[in-house]
Amino acid sequence: MTNSHQSKPVDDAVNVDVAVIGCGPTGATLANLLALSGISVLVVDREPAVYPLPRAVHFDDESMRVFQAVGIADALAAQSRVNPGMRFVDEHDRLLLDWPRPVDVGMHGWHGSYRLHQPALETLLRESLSHHDRVQIELGVQLLSVEEDDEFVNLLLQNVATESQIQCTARFVVGCDGANSLVRHYVGAHMEDLGFRERWLVVDVLLHSEQPELGDHTVQYCSTRQPMTYCRNPGLRRRWEMALPAELSDAHALEENRIWQTLKRWIQPEQAVIERKAVYTFKSELASRFRSGRLLIAGDAAHLTPPFMGQGMCAGIRDASNLAWKLAWCIRNPAHSFSRLLDSYQQERSPHVKQYIKAAIQLGGLINSVDAKSVESLIESNDAEALRMASIKPAIGDSDWVLELFDTTHHQGAMCAQPCLADGTKLDDFTGYQFVFICRPELSAWGGLVPEGVAAGLVVLNTRDHPELEQLLDSMHQNAVLVRPDRYVLSGMLTLDEAQLTNRSLIGARLV
Ligand SMILES: Cc1cc2nc3c(=O)[nH]c(=O)nc-3n(C[C@H](O)[C@H](O)[C@H](O)COP(=O)(O)OP(=O)(O)OC[C@H]3O[C@@H](n4cnc5c(N)ncnc54)[C@H](O)[C@@H]3O)c2cc1C
Repeated sequence: MTNSHQSKPVDDAVNVDVAVIGCGPTGATLANLLALSGISVLVVDREPAVYPLPRAVHFDDESMRVFQAVGIADALAAQSRVNPGMRFVDEHDRLLLDWPRPVDVGMHGWHGSYRLHQPALETLLRESLSHHDRVQIELGVQLLSVEEDDEFVNLLLQNVATESQIQCTARFVVGCDGANSLVRHYVGAHMEDLGFRERWLVVDVLLHSEQPELGDHTVQYCSTRQPMTYCRNPGLRRRWEMALPAELSDAHALEENRIWQTLKRWIQPEQAVIERKAVYTFKSELASRFRSGRLLIAGDAAHLTPPFMGQGMCAGIRDASNLAWKLAWCIRNPAHSFSRLLDSYQQERSPHVKQYIKAAIQLGGLINSVDAKSVESLIESNDAEALRMASIKPAIGDSDWVLELFDTTHHQGAMCAQPCLADGTKLDDFTGYQFVFICRPELSAWGGLVPEGVAAGLVVLNTRDHPELEQLLDSMHQNAVLVRPDRYVLSGMLTLDEAQLTNRSLIGARLV
């Protein structure tokens, strides 16, 4: 992967192309992808170190593909664990619902589900950032305020330890500043409550030695009395989460004696140490807007998902991948209006994440509401197959930008698979975080139609040179596909005419 573009400040007042507020998984991923696109980035986080309390323990193949683009996938895979799936059981351990996750590598070139230790991921993302010349990371620095004008955003930052203030100017600011986002306030967004709000205790333990009897599946213990979750995390880490009754205070819930008492069915104090514990209120919220002018929000700043599907962080990673190439385009083309392209960010991402939030709420409902009577009826009324659940794969929302750009709507919004090329190289490793045009030989004339210079950000692959890509086109019933850097299909094409139309649209939009 190369940094083909080096953006230049328009005048001396511009410090940086993009200021990313918050260096959690969303901000760190976004900053990495922007850096790969040749964009200068300032990342600030008010905390001096990665968040220490227990949070994400799961991510999926789509997120892994983004981490692959960043360049940390192999290192992350080495510290993660392939997850065989999730089981929902009743208080007598009777299986209510099975959600097996394929243990084979799937269409994205990775396993469908991984277990991780979130600080390990965040450390890798930060290490990767430190290798980019055009990225400046300031830890222990918080955003105090922003002020936007037509061309820039002026930021007032503060070193938390010394209280000294720092001024900065950026073309765009992205608030990846978590659930209590300050940038969201400046965007003028409110959080729509989608209906889930519960207080849970989360406990991470470190086993002294392997205890295979605990099992490798995630288990949701469904109950009206004491809903709980067990997670088999990498190495000797294991997690239990439990819903808290309203009358139990946080302080009482966090008492170690009480925790061991709750866990005694599975584990005794002499078998492990409690590594981390925290009480959270799990919420389901979606921001009313993701952008105002040059200010945007991403990750938990834009949406909150109950953790039952392990998708909150994954949604932030998808935000970063969707947004980075769009911001890069806006910065490379300062004379063009950016509104429509940047509006597509919310139009595409908001309905997508909403589907995950709703599915997580449904699962939360199941975990909470199952009593002995409903179990009996569930088991009687279903055969084994009906008790199986499959992963959802929502398409991104339609955007005005795409609808205006293309006459055809073949496969827009679907994700492109990642096969391996003949020498074993994964497709994305070959292409980098770029636009890719994959075509049958008869449409490859299209590639030659792109004027010199315009094609700088486009990789063209035809099936004569890469017969291993035939199956990819066959599966989509297309003769060519144009794939965005976030691996979504921008357009499929059947004929050379359609390809030429696409070509003109791209040049018109100066996309590649
Ligand atoms: C118990 C639990 C389990 C979870 N399990 C999963 C899971 O298995 N899978 C999954 O995908 N997700 C899971 N999640 C959700 C996941 O942890 C979050 O979605 C994810 O951490 C959000 O990342 P982010 O980068 O958007 O925000 P954060 O990680 O919250 O990062 C925001 C950063 O912004 C910084 N910041 C805030 N304000 C300012 C400011 N004014 N100036 C400078 N910096 C600022 C903060 O210090 C912080 O570092 C879980 C969450 C919880 C609580």
